[in-house]
Amino acid sequence: MSTSRNAVVIGAGFYGLRIALHLESLGFDRVTVVEREPSVMERASLNNQARVHNGYHYPRSILTGYRSHLQLPTFADEFAEAMVDDFVHLYAIAKRLSKVNARQFELFAQRIGSPTERVLDARSHSFDTDMVEAVFRVREPAFDARILRDLLMARIAEVAAIEISTSTEVLTVTGMDDERVAVETSRGLLEADAVISATYSGINVLHRRSGLPEVPLQHEITEMALVEMPADLKHVAVTVMDGPFFSMMPFPSRGLHTLSHVRYTPHRRWRDGEGRPHDPEDILKASSQESQFGNMRADVTRFMPRLKRLEHVDSLWEVKTVLTRSDSDDSRPILFLRDHGITNYTCIMGSKLDNIYDVLQELSVAYGRQ
Ligand SMILES: Cc1cc2nc3c(=O)[nH]c(=O)nc-3n(C[C@H](O)[C@H](O)[C@H](O)COP(=O)(O)OP(=O)(O)OC[C@H]3O[C@@H](n4cnc5c(N)ncnc54)[C@H](O)[C@@H]3O)c2cc1C
Repeated sequence: MSTSRNAVVIGAGFYGLRIALHLESLGFDRVTVVEREPSVMERASLNNQARVHNGYHYPRSILTGYRSHLQLPTFADEFAEAMVDDFVHLYAIAKRLSKVNARQFELFAQRIGSPTERVLDARSHSFDTDMVEAVFRVREPAFDARILRDLLMARIAEVAAIEISTSTEVLTVTGMDDERVAVETSRGLLEADAVISATYSGINVLHRRSGLPEVPLQHEITEMALVEMPADLKHVAVTVMDGPFFSMMPFPSRGLHTLSHVRYTPHRRWRDGEGRPHDPEDILKASSQESQFGNMRADVTRFMPRLKRLEHVDSLWEVKTVLTRSDSDDSRPILFLRDHGITNYTCIMGSKLDNIYDVLQELSVAYGRQ
């Protein structure tokens, strides 16, 4: 005989929303998503580079590269309307300071099964050939985060079992005697058979308040400049590998490009567990938000001299959070901590949007009906 089960998902980013749909499909009768912002998908799931990874970005982590390559078609299929593929994507290999050379990059792409085509005349794509060893044309789309949100919300609207409570912060989670979990929110108490935290940069703040073990995380206050590309480069994305360089990706939800730079995008970096505990939200709010666009553009100009007049329209400021072990090899594993300090409390973090399928698979194992 089946008994009724309910779940609470903390955080209505891309992960929280997609997980809510999955829990409903696993047979949960009620799923409540609790989000502290006034609306859903307003944080990292919106303020990011919008790259649907096909592996090229991780030449130092073959597993991350390969898994990205495998997951792209599933993601692109599920969210087809949000995919943007109307641009030429170029990966340039820097002549100096790069951690990979052109041959290694080409071999890596072959090994993970992602196609590359060597551009014979890099100059015709505005590159200074004294700066780049080679340029490859690749297949790596972008996503429109607004459409992604609308697609998820349309699906959620059709499922009576899912409820979203915005402008509500989860303050603590506590284990109960019957193995249910008590969720204290700014609007009252909830009780659930399963609680999933999809709070990304907020994971350890919740854990500290709840007396749960902290997760080894590193945070950065990031700035991505939003720029207006010259007319003939509007349908071009550029990523310079692999070191202290930059990326320019279409940002479809604003009709602009993001410009991010390995050196200048992070404004401040810290690790949880080192020194005084910090709430990333407090640090983001207190940051001066003094743009580093000038430095970013100066570096872009070294590689693509004609971009010296690149226009800065705005900047996206966000907290970027990664597992500390990803820092050395740039890999992007998922975090999945089942029964983390409390039975039936699970903490997840996906690192990239297309890692969602790894998380859903783990949730099926944990909560699928036997
Ligand atoms: C600068 C930058 C560039 C990136 N580029 C890419 C890229 O190109 N491609 C890619 O795939 N990924 C990229 N990422 C990573 C990607 O954005 C994240 O992996 C993804 O958005 C995480 O989704 P999420 O739902 O876990 O987090 P979020 O979207 O941040 O959602 C977490 C939600 O939890 C809420 N929350 C937190 N604490 C609480 C609480 N106590 N109570 C209630 N609600 C709470 C927050 O308000 C937030 O809405 C990038 C990230 C950054 C920051």
